Amino acid sequence: MADIAEEIRILGEELPSNVKLVAVSKFHPAEAVMEAYRAGQRVFGESRPQELAAKAAVLPKDIVWHFIGHLQTNKVKMVLPVAAMVESVDSVRLLEAIEKWGAANSSVTEVLLEMHIASEETKQGFSREEILSVVSEAGKYPHVRISGLMGMATLTGDEAVIRGDFARLVAMRDEIRDKASGFPGLPDDFGILSFGMTHDYRIAVEMGADIVRIGTLIFGERSY
Ligand SMILES: *Cc1c(COP(=O)(O)O)cnc(C)c1O
Repeated sequence: MADIAEEIRILGEELPSNVKLVAVSKFHPAEAVMEAYRAGQRVFGESRPQELAAKAAVLPKDIVWHFIGHLQTNKVKMVLPVAAMVESVDSVRLLEAIEKWGAANSSVTEVLLEMHIASEETKQGFSREEILSVVSEAGKYPHVRISGLMGMATLTGDEAVIRGDFARLVAMRDEIRDKASGFPGLPDDFGILSFGMTHDYRIAVEMGADIVRIGTLIFGERSY
């Protein structure tokens, strides 16, 4: 098993202070989360609704949970009461479900739009055109705060490919900022970028990530 506290400490020294670390604890037990918590980590990422709800129920209340997996609309009610941010909004249907829940519960959910930047077909996310369409209609979702974009690069050791994927995410953010006046309802400070995982977070930091999501490096390999 990885020395969780030691990895948190090393990442704390390595990451620039303006980069937020989301410790991805999916498939690891609550005890592992506690170990990172005792080392000072407060932001954790989970990708399955049941697992998030179960951990949130037993772990300290000052933990900030980010939901980072594919979210089915019927699971929104399980995730939104505990998640501070949904990083993985990948469909208009999901956005509508989050809006509906927020209206019914008088709350605003912070989200990122997931962009498909990898070359693999299987990875979720919006295309460039779909993202432009969503942000142009941001005003339709008063109970959703669309703060930025999330992406996952192709799973490859080829750094040039990873950089190319990340560059598309950065360019998308910049394009939206340039055209911001055309997107009423989008927050003035739109532009948070979440990209970078265990195998590519150093590249991500170098390319301007605001959030990195790191699991394996901190908690060790996941057993599914
Ligand atoms: C699992 C996961 C991560 C963390 O991946 P590691 O390679 O273990 O660091 C990051 N982001 C998302 C969306 C994930 O599902």
